[in-house]
Parts: sequence; C-alpha cells; structure tokens
Amino acid sequence: MDPVAALLEIATLLERERVSRYRAKAFRQAAATLQDLPDEVRGDPTRLRAAKGIGDSTFAVIRQAQAGEIPEYLVELRGEVEPERTSLLRAKLRGDLHSHTDWSDGTTSIATMADAARALGHEYLAITDHSPRLKIARGLSAERLREQIPLVRAESTATFTMFAGIEVDILDDGALDQNAALLGELDIVVASVHSKLRMESRPMTKRMLAAVSNPRVNVLGHCTGRLVQGERGMRAQSQFDARAVFDACAEHGVAVEINSRPERQDPPDDLIAIALDAGCLFSLDSDAHAPGHLSLLDYGAERAEQAGVPPERIVTTWGVERLRAWAE
Ligand SMILES: [Zn+2]
Ligand SMILES: [Zn+2]
Repeated sequence: MDPVAALLEIATLLERERVSRYRAKAFRQAAATLQDLPDEVRGDPTRLRAAKGIGDSTFAVIRQAQAGEIPEYLVELRGEVEPERTSLLRAKLRGDLHSHTDWSDGTTSIATMADAARALGHEYLAITDHSPRLKIARGLSAERLREQIPLVRAESTATFTMFAGIEVDILDDGALDQNAALLGELDIVVASVHSKLRMESRPMTKRMLAAVSNPRVNVLGHCTGRLVQGERGMRAQSQFDARAVFDACAEHGVAVEINSRPERQDPPDDLIAIALDAGCLFSLDSDAHAPGHLSLLDYGAERAEQAGVPPERIVTTWGVERLRAWAE
C-alpha cells in the first residue's frame, strides 16, 4: 500500500470520528513530510524514524505500508469508524456552503479542502472562514479575507467550483462583523451567532431579524447554537421567535442551514418544522474544520429526510449556476 495514502486515510477517518484534531493533524503532517523526503531516506528506517514530523505511530504505519501490508492501525480504524450512511437525499447533494481552513480554525489548506470535496464527488465547496471578532478562531481581518478570495477561486476547475465566502459573526445588534463592500464581493455569506447566545428572546429575535434582512446574507448558520454531544460539552439552544426569524428568511431568500455536525444537529426538529411551514429554503452543510468532516453531510441528510424537507428546497441539491444566481 502507498504509505502516503495510508497516512491520509487514517487522518480522514480520525477526523470523521472527531476524536482529537491533533492526532489527525499528526498523520497529515507525516504524510506531507514523507512526500518531501528523498527516496534514500524513505528506504532507510533509521533516517526515516529520525525525520522531523515522523513519530512512533506514523513510523509504524509507513513501515507496514512499505512492506506491502495494509497498516494495522488503518485496518482497526476502517472497522471502527462508522461508514458514511447512504440516503436518497445524500445522493442528491451536490456541494457544501460552509467549511473552514487553516486561515481561521480549520486544520488544513484551501487546496486540501478542495481536493477532499472533489474526492467526495462535490461539484462545489464554499470556504467560509470566520470574521475578525472571533479571535479565538483567528477570524480574518478585511485585509486577510481580500488576500484569501482569489486563492479560493483559483482552486476551481472546469467541473468543480470553489466559492469564496465567509462565516460572518452576527454582532449583538444584528450588524455583520465585516465591511459591507467586502461582503458584496464574496460568492457566499453565511451569518452565524457565536457570542451572547443566552441573550433574552426579544433582543435575540431583533438581532437575528436584522442579520437575515441584510441583503448580503445567503445562509443563516447553526441558528440556535446548541451543542448536544461531544468534547465541547453541552450547550442549550438560544431563545428567539423562530416563526418571525424564519418568515424573514423566507421573505429575503435566506437559506436556513441544517448543520450536519453530530454535536450540533442544528436546528432542532421542531424548528425545522417551523422553517418548512414558513416556506424557507435550506442549506445542508458540513461546517467542516478538516477534510474528514466533509463527509458528515450524511448525518444532516438523514435528519432533513426524517423532517420531510423536500430536496428541491435544499439549495445544496442545486447546480452551480442556479446556486450562483440565487446567491447574487
Ligand atoms: Zn459557526
Ligand atoms: Zn463554521
């Protein structure tokens, strides 16, 4: 087995399991290191083990792959990690409008995310790194975002489109955390609440109404902010007048995101029902922070299907041209 492929498959499986981002990163790092090593070092166990970026576990994987075996650890993970679930809706999804790179709090480059999306069969992927106020996630200044836009678009090919986007913070008063002209240059704007999630219902409703009425906004990200499982712990959903917010989304053509991450499962079922009734569009997204998260769309697809969301109302089942026309 090709050792680089083995290391990358292990990283992808670890990411899908969402156990430790550092462990997955170590395998990606080892793959990058190995690719750059000259043949004589690759073939010499002592020098290989001494190479920076190669540790005990990654060394063992490389040696087993070089011996023509499928590395033990990979066999173990293939057996343990739940395979992607198939569904009619999942088969209809053509891309993803919410993902992160190492420009903010994702773990890999723009190019690596693009490759992973192509490998999944996506026709498009939006890179939506965080906005300045989310300092903990290294949110992008206007300057860095301007620098990023052409680099994202440059990863497009004849059959695959990379959308330059942002996950912009909805500030306390409903304003967006990036300058309007710059937001206007982007292909996709996801707006999300990341702070003061426990604000009272009335001001929270006002805040969200202001955001979704902003003509720059395409998608309302993980609308309740809840966390239902996982290492980040639990977090209650924020309180707002869902009917009013979803009515405004429908009026302004803003898609309500169905966030596929198992720890989010946002919006909750009862809110999906309200959004359906309000006539909203939806965007089924991964919110990937690593390549192996892109496949988590299957969880969101399963939820949307159970909630009875018609595929044609999910913008990520649309083709690139229709999507672009809607986003503009
Ligand atoms: Zn977010
Ligand atoms: Zn995000």
